Amino acid sequence: MTTDHGTVQTPVFMPVGTAATIKSLDAQDILATKSEIVLANTYHLFLRPGEKVVSQMGGVQKFMNWHGPMLTDSGGFQVFSLGMGAKGESLSKIDEDGVTFKSHLDGQMHRFTPEISMNIQKDLGADIIMAFDECTPDKIEKKYVREALERTNRWAERCLKQWEANDRKSSQGTHQALFGIIQGGTDRKMREDAAQFISSMPFGGVALGGETIGYNMEATQEVIGWIKHLLPNNKPIYTMGLGRDPQNIVNIIKCGIDMFDCVAPTRLARNGALYHGELRGGNFDSEFVNGRLNIGNAQFINDKSPIMEGCDCHTCLSGYTRGYLHHLYRSKELTYYRLASIHNVRFMVRLVEKMREKMKTK
Ligand SMILES: [Zn+2]
Repeated sequence: MTTDHGTVQTPVFMPVGTAATIKSLDAQDILATKSEIVLANTYHLFLRPGEKVVSQMGGVQKFMNWHGPMLTDSGGFQVFSLGMGAKGESLSKIDEDGVTFKSHLDGQMHRFTPEISMNIQKDLGADIIMAFDECTPDKIEKKYVREALERTNRWAERCLKQWEANDRKSSQGTHQALFGIIQGGTDRKMREDAAQFISSMPFGGVALGGETIGYNMEATQEVIGWIKHLLPNNKPIYTMGLGRDPQNIVNIIKCGIDMFDCVAPTRLARNGALYHGELRGGNFDSEFVNGRLNIGNAQFINDKSPIMEGCDCHTCLSGYTRGYLHHLYRSKELTYYRLASIHNVRFMVRLVEKMREKMKTK
């Protein structure tokens, strides 16, 4: 993929920089992980510091001093998932025109429509922006999923219109590609209908959304199997929120998916789970459960080896030992978060690099 901020090779893993920062990493750190594109969240940046501030600062890339390609989501997922009441009920109110929701920061009410989401993303200025959609939970009646899907499809048309009206450009004058999103929950017919509809529209890429995608790998692969023949083969295909376990990445690339993002590598790192293992015979292999070691375990107290022998991340190459990281983690030292996140992000990026190499030699 070619953008005004550089080229992205696919398949690609995109680390998540929710509030215009990959937690505990600075732009130099991100560069050193060889990440090619970073995701930021529209909902969070809209609430704080506000898209107008980001725009005045030169767009999200300049703002965070990361000059490579970026993608913003539409805010839809957070509007529906973060606006929860005390009993977990959704506090957002949906109508045909858009969604009214409560900020998770201060309880203030806000409103997103497809047009507003497009305009916020125009101000944020990412290279790839996403259509505003409703992400329906899996455990909800089919009648509602159908209603939500049809509304999401109508919103997709409105997003395209607004993107055209915005000249397909950011407020900083750079080109923006708009991707459409396929919803439809866990219902085959609805996924097929959505895939047909979204694929027929002039989007720059096509994404698969929904609660299942990424959380339930088996179901994710099943959904892809249903609709694969309906997806365009000349556009990038993106599974949203996928990439927790290394084997997930291997599986999803085998399914022909080009892009995926996940907060898991950095979140797991902060919780003491560090990736370990490698590709063997086309699959991921590790001596640790789920491909990650728990650095807080007592077995690492006086372990002088790096997190993973052969890893080329800054943390492993610079001589930091498991024993030291164990100590930092147990003492909740801030340095731990950076060193651990660097390893986990680089691990995922490198795994995808290796898969890419395998595809080239085939
Ligand atoms: Zn490492």
